[in-house]
Amino acid sequence: MSFADLGLSDELLQAVTSAGYTEPTPIQAQAIPAVLMMKDLIGIAQTGTGKTAAFVLPMIDVLGNGRRRALMPRSLILEPTRELAAQVAENFEKYGKNHDLKMALLIGGVQMGDQLKALQGGVDVLIATPGRLMDLFERGKIMLTGCELLVIDEADRMLDMGFIPDIETICSKLPTNRQTLLFSATMPPVIKKLADRFLTSPKYIEV
Ligand code: AMP
Repeated sequence: MSFADLGLSDELLQAVTSAGYTEPTPIQAQAIPAVLMMKDLIGIAQTGTGKTAAFVLPMIDVLGNGRRRALMPRSLILEPTRELAAQVAENFEKYGKNHDLKMALLIGGVQMGDQLKALQGGVDVLIATPGRLMDLFERGKIMLTGCELLVIDEADRMLDMGFIPDIETICSKLPTNRQTLLFSATMPPVIKKLADRFLTSPKYIEV
């Protein structure tokens, strides 16, 4: 299996080559074609398996050159910690540098001013921790109705950190006609229930 077999655009294949990757990891080989086909997905994978690129690479192609609107991110990635959110942002910068994609980070512990400014300009990808996102949402500073692609990353860590009620609230504010990707290292019953409620006929991948 090579990256060229997965359906990614030539630009992304170049980005993968620049990153020095010679072949896709198992989660990438299975997830990338499914995400490009706009399917929902459950990926059971630990960190270190290449799971970030498994969703970041195809997302860049799926988002393409859509129209950005103020306060309405086109996609949302939920991460349990600031550090993970920042790592995902770095991945978008690395793979998406030849694409016209705008990204914003919405994480706790930093001033909100710049984050709000970025949102006002319109973003393709919003990478957020649930607490800060809920905070802005409740203050009417962000709208989730234009968000057609949702990633819930590290779902079992979200559970450990008490974020599941926030995630349920956030999911219920997104349009029902959307693509949802959920990644978790394990599948405890609460996460299974979350997936049953918010994903539609997901492809299930376990590596
Ligand atoms: P992750 O599981 O997303 O945290 O990725 C773990 C590490 O694997 C990161 O440092 C990536 O840069 C690297 N990586 C991702 N995909 C590949 C690949 N196909 N070949 C080699 N390294 C990769």
